[in-house]
Amino acid sequence: MNKESCVLCIPSTQKILWQDDFCRVVLLNDTDYPAYCRVELLAHVKEMSDLPPLQRARMMKTVFAVEMALREIFNPTKINLASLGNKTPHVHWHVIPRFENDKHFPNSHWGEAMRDGSPVQLEANIKKALADKVSAYIECALNS
Ligand SMILES: [Zn+2]
Repeated sequence: MNKESCVLCIPSTQKILWQDDFCRVVLLNDTDYPAYCRVELLAHVKEMSDLPPLQRARMMKTVFAVEMALREIFNPTKINLASLGNKTPHVHWHVIPRFENDKHFPNSHWGEAMRDGSPVQLEANIKKALADKVSAYIECALNS
């Protein structure tokens, strides 16, 4: 896969909660996991260790800021963080609030389903609150 065929190198079709010239935070349109976020590096870079140390730190500050915003708003049972990139070798982090009654808990959300899901869409005011909280935590993290 190269830059031309990479789905993370094109403008996102997902709702962008926050973005600067380094990375973006998107809210995935997943009705089983309506608060599922992804932090996507804007540059086509395969591994975290390809980034210079300050950029690695900046990426993780952003990931943890998203985690804190999700914890504050949704009070999940657990946050799942994942960076795989086998299909899309372009640095990105999945940040997924998990609940004991979600479709796959306690398995990975990519694992075997344990129950029927209860599909839901976040309401616009919740999306707005999440975007505001994500922005606040990121600005705070990047300025400290
Ligand atoms: Zn890419």
